[in-house]
Amino acid sequence: ATPTALLVGTGRGAQMGILIKGPEVLESTRRIDTIVLDKTGTVTAGKMTLTDLHTAVGTDRAELLRLAGALEDASEHPIAQAVAKAAVQELGTLPTPEGFTNIEGKGVQGVVDGHAVIIGRASLLADWSLHLPAELVEAKAAAERQGKTAIAVGWDGQARGVLVVADTVKPTSPAAVAQFKRLGLTPVLLTGDNQAVAEQIAAEVGITDVIAEVLPQDKVDVITRLQREGKAVAMVGDGVNDAAALAQADLGLAMGTGTDVAIEASDITLVRGDLRSAADAIRLSRKTLGTIK
Ligand code: ADP
Ligand code: MG
Repeated sequence: ATPTALLVGTGRGAQMGILIKGPEVLESTRRIDTIVLDKTGTVTAGKMTLTDLHTAVGTDRAELLRLAGALEDASEHPIAQAVAKAAVQELGTLPTPEGFTNIEGKGVQGVVDGHAVIIGRASLLADWSLHLPAELVEAKAAAERQGKTAIAVGWDGQARGVLVVADTVKPTSPAAVAQFKRLGLTPVLLTGDNQAVAEQIAAEVGITDVIAEVLPQDKVDVITRLQREGKAVAMVGDGVNDAAALAQADLGLAMGTGTDVAIEASDITLVRGDLRSAADAIRLSRKTLGTIK
């Protein structure tokens, strides 16, 4: 393609809400055969709501919501915001936690009303020797079978509750996945969330390749591994935890609705936060290069 054609292509992209960092980016779309999609905020809306609350035998429901809500109020995570919002709605003002610590990709801990509270993946609580009693193991499994995310809550050395939050697939995501396949790309769902939830969301949008339970710092290794297998990888993400993977990918696409760090690390920004724009971007780039007519 001539320099003029490249400029026209990037200009056309801008009109469609597809911001291409430079003409050299177009070239990298040519070989792409795999598209890795971050789950939360990319395939799903990323807005969670608290749908269920399960207490261990002997635990008070309001106390569970109060301690969990207070601690999560200090976290920016979408799961945390859902929990805090529900707690404020039901209980009003919440206590301020002390010694709040975020355990990246796993959960949070801190002291609320003198109780050492920990919230997050069941495996995080297990690291602290807090094990879910049978009734909570069952509640967690039932939620995950429905594609919901179950997080465990414990304090003072005991696991005491399971909170269930649900995110929803963006209405446009299944159509976007169908378009990726038509472009000859294999879609892969990548997430820190657990396998059951990831598979449920994948099934809803038509993806069969799922890589779940990946810690934020390990997402980049997944991209490297696929590249070593000979794949040319595009990655679409929105979060701080996607930035390294976006930079490592042969083509990084960030949701414009996502974090600045993700946008800076990527080659293309999808202003509308609509996954179909990723397919549009690849189609437009290839057309501009003249690889498809
Ligand atoms: P994703 O890759 O889907 O954006 P994250 O890497 O941010 O997910 O989080 C992975 C998992 O860690 C969550 O599904 C949840 O189980 C747990 N987790 C992380 N932060 C929190 C938090 N603030 N409260 C509860 N659970 C959390
Ligand atoms: Mg995300």
